[in-house]
Amino acid sequence: MRVALKVDVDTYRGTREGLPRLRRLFARLGIRASFFFTLGPDHTGRRLVRAFRPEFLRKVRRTSVVANYGVRTLLYGILLPGPVIGRACRDELRTLEEEGHEVGLHVYDHSLWQDHVRYRDADWTRRQIEKGLIAFRDIWARNPAGHAAAGWQINEATLELEEALGFRYASDCRGRGGPFHPSWNGRVFRCPQLPTSLPTLDEVLGRDGVNGDNFPQYFERLLLDAPEDHVHTLHAELEGGRYLEGFERLLHLWRAAGAEFETLEERLARQPSGNLSVRPLVWATIPGRAGQLASVA
Ligand SMILES: [Zn+2]
Repeated sequence: MRVALKVDVDTYRGTREGLPRLRRLFARLGIRASFFFTLGPDHTGRRLVRAFRPEFLRKVRRTSVVANYGVRTLLYGILLPGPVIGRACRDELRTLEEEGHEVGLHVYDHSLWQDHVRYRDADWTRRQIEKGLIAFRDIWARNPAGHAAAGWQINEATLELEEALGFRYASDCRGRGGPFHPSWNGRVFRCPQLPTSLPTLDEVLGRDGVNGDNFPQYFERLLLDAPEDHVHTLHAELEGGRYLEGFERLLHLWRAAGAEFETLEERLARQPSGNLSVRPLVWATIPGRAGQLASVA
């Protein structure tokens, strides 16, 4: 039973403050994880527009968005210019692989991608991914192996580009099971998908009596109820922020339950290549999260 830890880093603050905390925690526990970075401008504030959606308002109330993201972050792209994250954090990002972690591309502009990619064309999508790749190469002097679409939002061109641009794998969707070839509108794509199989912390907080204290036991139960390989997505802003201590407890609980940790690249490498199944991706809703997400049917 292995859990691949996928760390999405969405904001400047998450990169500056959450990332070092998670690095120290993982170093202490001897854990290697896969980090996916937002490398362009932090425009988190633009997502405040979504506050007019009732789902988001409920989430704001459940998960204290201001406490987790900070007031500055919520103004980036509205009242404050958003820092260009990759450029501003170049030095600390560069040394991450020395600790055995994997680095991959989350996105260039998180709020832009998350809110628009579904309805944009191939040219737009290519420009966004290429901006991300340029920023990635500026730090690591090569292309990333993995791409993890922001907010689990994609379009057909995303799958096409992941294949064309030579990504070894992508983690763009939700659902159970190991790596597979995605199909979309009947078309099959070669770049394997590794789905996030467990809910994220922000999806469960405030639901079913789960809170900042007892979430480790909740996630422990999820693993005990489905004792198989998983991909767990966490956020530098949350598990690397005010939920750090609980997250450490969760890692100990999972270990005690027999889980080992791995990176997504390691997960993929364990899969005998050449015999991946084809599974269709569809849009689905996930409890605790607004809108629809790319999911395994
Ligand atoms: Zn994200």
